[in-house]
Amino acid sequence: MRVIVVGAGVMGLSAAAELSARGHYVVALDRFGVGNRIASSSGATRIFRLAHPSRDHVRLAKWNHVLWDRLEQRAGRSLRLKTGLIWRGGLADDVQRALADEGVDHERIDRRRQATLFPELRWDDARGAVWQPEAGAVLADLALHAVESTFTTSGGHLVPDARVLEVDSHAPGGVRVVAEVAGARQEWTADRVVIAAGPWAGQFLGALGAGVQLTPVLEQVTYVRGGADIPWQNRPAIVDAPLDGSSFGFYAMPTPGVGFKVGIDTPLRPFVDGDLDREPDIGRERESVERLRYELPTFDAEVVRSEICSWTDSPDDRFVLDRVGDVVVACGDSGQGFKFLPMFGEVLANLVDESPMPDSVAADVASLGLERFTDR
Ligand SMILES: Cc1cc2nc3c(=O)[nH]c(=O)nc-3n(C[C@H](O)[C@H](O)[C@H](O)COP(=O)(O)OP(=O)(O)OC[C@H]3O[C@@H](n4cnc5c(N)ncnc54)[C@H](O)[C@@H]3O)c2cc1C
Repeated sequence: MRVIVVGAGVMGLSAAAELSARGHYVVALDRFGVGNRIASSSGATRIFRLAHPSRDHVRLAKWNHVLWDRLEQRAGRSLRLKTGLIWRGGLADDVQRALADEGVDHERIDRRRQATLFPELRWDDARGAVWQPEAGAVLADLALHAVESTFTTSGGHLVPDARVLEVDSHAPGGVRVVAEVAGARQEWTADRVVIAAGPWAGQFLGALGAGVQLTPVLEQVTYVRGGADIPWQNRPAIVDAPLDGSSFGFYAMPTPGVGFKVGIDTPLRPFVDGDLDREPDIGRERESVERLRYELPTFDAEVVRSEICSWTDSPDDRFVLDRVGDVVVACGDSGQGFKFLPMFGEVLANLVDESPMPDSVAADVASLGLERFTDR
């Protein structure tokens, strides 16, 4: 098949690499380039975990975990720092139940046990805590570039500085894609197209009749160092959700070569096309460090830098993965897509070339389709 992929972030690049590895002719177009700082997939690390409040997500994460092993084999190096995860606060009971029901190794922990796992972390009687060992930090930049190199070495064509203007799924001979490449207009015709445009996805879905309310936002994280006596590379990642479970709350992860990365899951501002300002917000940086100092009272954190990137909330905070005619849609990462890098490759490639999904997750993947929005 001739396949065009619009967007070379986590979703698009993974799909492009898998399709190319399967022998399809693939061109991936990206307006800002792989790992660019305007979109969602840049930065040194991201949390990976199997811990999730719902069983379907845990099942997908289990499958994805095996796919990470395969990606690391292909890359010839490990791309994950397995230091474990402590999930605290909101939804801790649901997380524990879902992990138990899906047979994933985990433990409900108390003050004494938490102190053995993360001595610097303050204990909070009011917040339940679950330990999940097969978790930690993805080496995000490395992983994204590992996928980029498997794509290009398998014959895939990556076109940076290519802004797609139009996707016409009713053109004669296939799907017509029109783009501005380095200022010049260029057209392609493909058998199938994957639209994985992150916060810009909404611009393409309407024309496909795939209306889904996406909410792209900008979020900020801060990298800190210090605590020379703290072996950060061994410390677990943390998700400390508010008791109402309305967001990820405070989250943090070890980041090799830097120290620790922290974030507060409250949008800095809505994502607006054309707003390329990614200058960090000092107020939010101060808030993140204050929260970190509250949770790790013995750690005298020193700010290294802060970064802003985007994520795109779907109406139910679940991915949107589906095919509409000859166009595959991948969007709605909802701030939790990076850890599913290898799974996106499999699912999107299967949607393109109509390969079957594994029985164990076929219903879970189908539940991520557009149909769930139609009867609202
Ligand atoms: C602060 C923050 C913290 C996060 N923490 C975690 C975490 O701990 N764990 C986790 O799993 N995930 C996390 N995420 C989420 C994760 O980073 C995203 O889910 C993932 O990167 C989404 O990838 P994507 O491919 O959907 O989007 P993007 O990476 O946004 O990819 C879309 C691409 O499309 C291109 N594009 C758009 N429009 C066009 C066009 N017209 N023509 C050509 N190209 C176009 C863009 O240039 C971009 O490269 C976090 C995200 C943020 C912002």
